[in-house]
Amino acid sequence: MMGGARHQSTFDRLGNDPEAWLDLAKKGVQRQLGVDGESAQVAKVLVSEQAIPQYQVGHNDRKIQIQDSLDEAWDARLTVVGSALHGVSVNDCVNNAREAAAAHARFLSDWSLCPSDSTPREREMLREIKRLRKKATGAPGDSV
Ligand SMILES: Cc1cc2nc3c(=O)[nH]c(=O)nc-3n(C[C@H](O)[C@H](O)[C@H](O)COP(=O)(O)OP(=O)(O)OC[C@H]3O[C@@H](n4cnc5c(N)ncnc54)[C@H](O)[C@@H]3O)c2cc1C
Repeated sequence: MMGGARHQSTFDRLGNDPEAWLDLAKKGVQRQLGVDGESAQVAKVLVSEQAIPQYQVGHNDRKIQIQDSLDEAWDARLTVVGSALHGVSVNDCVNNAREAAAAHARFLSDWSLCPSDSTPREREMLREIKRLRKKATGAPGDSV
């Protein structure tokens, strides 16, 4: 895999030309690994511009601002996750999604202390969350 935000000038020069990228890759493995790239039997090039987010200085502040704005607009009922924000690996994405879902389940659980405000649909969702939580942890769910 080649690329990165600091290599924009290379991208500007080579653009979407697969042959040019292949040539660069062959020179790279020759120089870095001492492998003769010309002897490669199979080669496939996939050019993906801006495929993996790269966090710039100030990223942490920006993501806090984004979540603060969402909290204000959605009354803390919407959380965004994904590689653009909290870590680029699949593991990060899965972990952050789980944490976000758990936080919302906690929020709903607290809010259920005053269920007189809730609609039948909201109570149904809460029951489902508790059922899933019980299944995941083996802990007894509260009655709703
Ligand atoms: C070439 C490459 C190799 C990688 N290798 C690894 C690896 O080995 N290990 C690893 O852990 N991670 C790897 N990653 C990183 C990992 O794949 C990503 O970080 C992860 O998939 C990001 O998940 P995401 O849900 O944030 O975004 P995505 O997986 O990009 O999902 C976003 C989805 O939103 C959709 N979408 C976008 N805009 C809109 C819109 N306006 N309306 C509706 N839908 C929209 C897109 O079509 C896409 O389906 C790799 C990434 C790339 C590009």
